[in-house]
Amino acid sequence: METSAPLDIVIVGGGTAGWMVGTALVSGLRPHQARVRLVESDEIATVGVGEATIPAMRDYNRFVGIDEVEMMRETNGTFKLGIEFLDWGFKGSSYHHPFGVHGAGIGGAGFHHHWNRARLAGHDLDIEQFSYAIAAARADRFEFPNPDPDKIDSTYSYAYHFDASLYARYLRKVAEGRGLKRTEGKVVDVTRDPLSGDVASITLASGEVVKGDFFVDCTGFRGLLIGQTLDSPFEEWTDWLPCDRAWAVPCARADRFTPFTRSTAREAGWQWRIPLQHRTGNGYVYSSRYISDDEAAATLMANLDGEALAEPRQVRFKAGRRTASWTRNVMAAGLASGFLEPLESTSIYLIQVAVMNLLKLFPGKRVEPALVEEFNRRVDMEYDRVRDFLILHYHANTRTDGELWKHCREMEIPESLKHKLELFRHRGVAPNYHDGLFALPSWISVLLGQGVLPGGYDRLVDNVPLAQALAEMERQRSAITRRMPAMPTHADFVARHCAIS
Ligand code: FAD
Repeated sequence: METSAPLDIVIVGGGTAGWMVGTALVSGLRPHQARVRLVESDEIATVGVGEATIPAMRDYNRFVGIDEVEMMRETNGTFKLGIEFLDWGFKGSSYHHPFGVHGAGIGGAGFHHHWNRARLAGHDLDIEQFSYAIAAARADRFEFPNPDPDKIDSTYSYAYHFDASLYARYLRKVAEGRGLKRTEGKVVDVTRDPLSGDVASITLASGEVVKGDFFVDCTGFRGLLIGQTLDSPFEEWTDWLPCDRAWAVPCARADRFTPFTRSTAREAGWQWRIPLQHRTGNGYVYSSRYISDDEAAATLMANLDGEALAEPRQVRFKAGRRTASWTRNVMAAGLASGFLEPLESTSIYLIQVAVMNLLKLFPGKRVEPALVEEFNRRVDMEYDRVRDFLILHYHANTRTDGELWKHCREMEIPESLKHKLELFRHRGVAPNYHDGLFALPSWISVLLGQGVLPGGYDRLVDNVPLAQALAEMERQRSAITRRMPAMPTHADFVARHCAIS
């Protein structure tokens, strides 16, 4: 039977994961439901990278009641309309993954099906010209989407680039203000209940013993509770996603203040470029199987956008996830639960998934196994879908340089991704998940951007004569072009709306 005493929750770790989990828990639960405590060590640094997000982040901020302008100022934030991918399909190619649609459906069939019929009939139309988000991104413009769904400038969404360490610091202020108790201290021992095997307490270097009913492991790659204590296995995905290291370097603010992240494929991985208000983040994610650390660092330093403000810093990682992110009375979030490279900026999102599902499936003093099973099913599904989406970027390439690209092109891919590719090649059918990542426009942009072309289209397309569809497509394209000059530049919008002082 459930007791009505509040649950004592102990979060271990104060990186982005720890503070996102802590803030959501004290925002979603009342004091009679839970007491939340967070233990973090000043001695152990956070991973200290992570600057790009996806639109779902706004749902998290809304849930915890964060003021957007204040958050942007506190984190040196900028706006993000999507990601530009350079050289991914082949050297010289480029495409955008926008946070928005490529055109509005016509006569009951999706826009990309109409576009594909036109293409198969010999019309050479650039599908990116039908995306409002891409047009704005290319022109370095930004404003909030129009709330009127009938307007062309309502057809996109946005996310943020920000300094994730400052975001964690900002959340700390919010969470402590709402009753979260923070303790500085290094965990040196973990004690398990001899009967149940659950985690009973942690011991800090000071000698203090912190007991809890439920623990959240946010200790980063260490996985102190979930891995080192409870042995939850880590399923590796390094054959599919061989990148295992990154060099990161902050640079001075670049001349071009883009409302998008840039990802440029390189011989043994890819380079990111993320504009913040005061600097531009640059980094090279690479596979140590295909390039040495020194060569990778040299490649990054030779391709910086802006003057380097520090020496490059290396981070090592392994793609994969825990097979059970929630085990016994411990839930892991952030890097303790798994890692997928930041190609689609999904790590912070996966923290959000973990904590929002914890709130939905909130346990009592005795953890109900059915809740744990359901939590792990949901988290696994999200990881698996993001994994497939990332693998697609690597697999669908015709690059002729570098063994990494050959390996990825020829490797056996997961059955789930094989199925998605077959469907798209056959008739342009792509996933349209409504309960997580990624939705149809994202799949379409990456599939087409990487050169995966459908041989057919939705039968409903034939209900609209081709000439009529072409006229409607042209109407949509010109509405975007006409609207564009009225949009403020990203630089002006940030300066007016949320500039740091
Ligand atoms: P960490 O930041 O490592 O924090 C761990 C915490 O645990 C620290 O506070 C530490 O003090 C504490 N701790 C550890 N051991 C102990 C102990 N024994 N006692 C007490 N405390 C302890 N994500 C995105 O969404 N977008 C991006 O663009 C992005 N880019 C990335 C680029 C790279 C190269 C990498 C590697 C990651 C990137 N990420 C990105 C992921 C993102 O950085 C992480 O998901 C996020 O920072 C969460 O980290 P964390 O809080 O899980 O771990």
